[in-house]
Amino acid sequence: MRDERGTGPQGAADGLTVRVPAKVNVQLAVGGLRPDGFHGLANVFLAVGLHDEVTASPYEGFRLTVSGTDAEHVPLDESNLATRAARLLAAHHGREPHVRLHIAKDIPVAGGMAGGSADAAGALLACDALWGTRTSRDELLALCAELGSDVPFALVGGAALGQGRGELLTPLETGGTFHWVFALADGGLSTPEVYRECDRLREASGTGAGIDSVPEPRPSERLLDALRTGDAAELAASVSNDLQAAALSLRPSLADTLKTGTAAGASAALVSGSGPTCAFLAADAASAAAIASALEESGHCRAARTTTAPAPGATLTGK
Ligand code: ATP
Repeated sequence: MRDERGTGPQGAADGLTVRVPAKVNVQLAVGGLRPDGFHGLANVFLAVGLHDEVTASPYEGFRLTVSGTDAEHVPLDESNLATRAARLLAAHHGREPHVRLHIAKDIPVAGGMAGGSADAAGALLACDALWGTRTSRDELLALCAELGSDVPFALVGGAALGQGRGELLTPLETGGTFHWVFALADGGLSTPEVYRECDRLREASGTGAGIDSVPEPRPSERLLDALRTGDAAELAASVSNDLQAAALSLRPSLADTLKTGTAAGASAALVSGSGPTCAFLAADAASAAAIASALEESGHCRAARTTTAPAPGATLTGK
C-alpha cells in the first residue's frame, strides 16, 4: 500500500467536503455486561466544535488519504470506518465504491471523542452527495447504526440521548451555548479495553459486572433539564461518566489533568467517553481560555482546545 498520510486532498477540486463534529458524553451510564457481550447504555451525547473534514472526489477505483493531527495513527486499510462507510453505501445502492476519500483530521484518534465514527458519518454524506444516490435520512441513519453505535449521532449532532448500545437516538433540546475545554493526551485508549476494565473493577468491588448486578442505566432528568434550559452550572452538577474510573485505572496520570482543570476554575471535569481526552466545562469563554492556558502550562496534556457546544451534525460545506 502507498503511504498516503500527510498529503492534502490534491485533485479534490471537484470534490465535496463534509464537516463533522466530535462528541463528549455528558452522561455515560453503563449497565451490566449482557450475554451478547455488549453493555446497555444511557448515553447523553453533546456534539462539540472540534471537527474532521471528509472530502469525496471522483476517482476510478477507491483511494483513502489522511492528513492532520494524529494522521499516522489512522488505519488506511479496510478497517478504516470511512472506507467501511463508503463501501456500505455503495453496496446499498448496488454500485462500485469509486471515490477518492480524504480525511483532514482534527479530532484526536482513540481519544474518546468518536473521531472514527465522525469520519464514517462524513464519508456516508460526502459519497451520497458525490454519487447522487439521494439516500433518505432514515436509510442513512440505519447505515450509520450498522457501522457503529456512535455513528448515528455524528450524523445528527446537537444533543441526543442514545439508548440500547447507544445507537437508538432521541434528539434533545438545548437552550444555550456551553463552553468547553478539551485536554488532549498523548496516545489513545482502546474503547473495548476500557469496558473490560470497567467490568473488572465492578467484579473486584464485589458488586458484580452482569446485568443482574448493575442497575439499569437511566438518563438523569436533572441533566436533561440543564441541557434544555442551557444552565451550565446545573449541567456541571449533573455530568457523569461510568467509564471514568476504568480510564483512570488504565491511565492514572489523567487524575492530574482533571485536578489541574478544576483548580483553574472548571465547573466540571470528566473523562470524555472512554478517554483519554479530558473535558472541562467553563462558565464562559474567558474562563475556558484560562483553563486551557493552565492545562497547557501544567504539562499534564499534549494540548488544550477551547470550543463550544452544541455543534451541528455532519454538514456539506460547499467547498
Ligand atoms: P469512541 O469514543 O467512539 O469509542 P474513540 O474516539 O476513542 O472512539 P476513534 O478515534 O474513533 O476512537 O478511534 C478508535 C480506533 O478506530 C482507532 O484506534 C483506529 O484504529 C480505528 N479507526 C478506524 N477508522 C478510523 C478513522 N477514520 N479515524 C480514526 N480512527 C479510526
